[in-house]
Amino acid sequence: MAVTIYYEEDCNPEIIKNKKIAVIGYGSQGHAHALNLKDSGCDVRVGLRPGSKSADLAREAGLKVMDIPAAAEEADLIMMLVPDELQPSVYEDSIAPHLKPGDTLAFAHGFNIHYGYITPPDDVNVIMCAPKGPGHIVRRQYTEGSGVPDLICVQQDATGDAWDIALSYAWGVGGARSGIIKATFKEETEEDLFGEQAVLCGGLVELVKAGFETLVEAGYPPELAYFECYHEMKMIVDLMYESGIHFMNYSISNTAEYGEYYAGPKVINEQSREAMREILARIQDGSFAREFMEDCDNDHARLLASREAINDHEIEKTGEKIRSMFTWTN
Ligand code: NAD
Ligand code: MG
Ligand code: MG
Repeated sequence: MAVTIYYEEDCNPEIIKNKKIAVIGYGSQGHAHALNLKDSGCDVRVGLRPGSKSADLAREAGLKVMDIPAAAEEADLIMMLVPDELQPSVYEDSIAPHLKPGDTLAFAHGFNIHYGYITPPDDVNVIMCAPKGPGHIVRRQYTEGSGVPDLICVQQDATGDAWDIALSYAWGVGGARSGIIKATFKEETEEDLFGEQAVLCGGLVELVKAGFETLVEAGYPPELAYFECYHEMKMIVDLMYESGIHFMNYSISNTAEYGEYYAGPKVINEQSREAMREILARIQDGSFAREFMEDCDNDHARLLASREAINDHEIEKTGEKIRSMFTWTN
């Protein structure tokens, strides 16, 4: 193995149970970390800005809610789970003034530390516990008794036991149930951005959309195109996820498998691979981070325009209609 993987026996739960934890933000990751840690027996408070819409939700879930400076002051481990682009100002205004020597500042993505938008003082630990999955799955799998794998990283080890703290935190959010992978802030930041851009979110959505549009343009009914290129995607991915590409290939017909080998490399060809290398290079040299932060400063103009375009796309209208016919979704 090129990486070190830790399991429950490698973690000391007492470390995290003996810390006062502040989870800052109660969105996708925030609610999952806060609730999983609480259910693991940890002392959690959620830090939210005044008037936050999430405050009632967090309180109803049995969590203590405080404003961000007070939560940071009281805690000795602060997990930053507000959106990446807001973390620098939240850190400056509401966290930094309350950091004490020996505190631990934690992240679920390395963006702000790796690209230098946040520079913590030398006397605090800087760690990461990044679940390799969306927050709602992190929570769902924990309640089902399993767990999403976590990456853990240490950028600064001020107290000498920062790795043990990171391991113990990952245990608390349920990562030890599947596996905790040791990495660096640089590795996590760059591979995470690359994966979500080229494969998981960017690549996947464009692939599905291009397949759907090709069939619809050629005169096939959108509903059939949706079932073929979108709905079936999950079943194929589930087979790969559970038992490997070879098992997915075993489950599909020989006709489908032959077509896979013949057509796949035509769609993801040398031009697509060159595009992937360019995407990776722009992540590595910081151009992507700068471009993203500029768009955030510009009220997310590009983000919102693209979001509106996909929301209005025929594939979304078709999907909404079809999913409303399924009895098992809502
Ligand atoms: P999110 O957008 O779902 O939630 C952010 C929360 O921050 C909000 O719910 C709110 O409670 C709070 N917030 C919003 N605006 C604020 C403001 N102006 N001031 C103070 N608080 C504010 O964020 P997220 O997707 O959970 O991302 C949090 C971190 O987790 C990021 O570093 C992200 O990269 C990382 N991460 C996210 C996922 C994921 O599944 N979404 C996966 C891995 C890592
Ligand atoms: Mg990711
Ligand atoms: Mg990410």
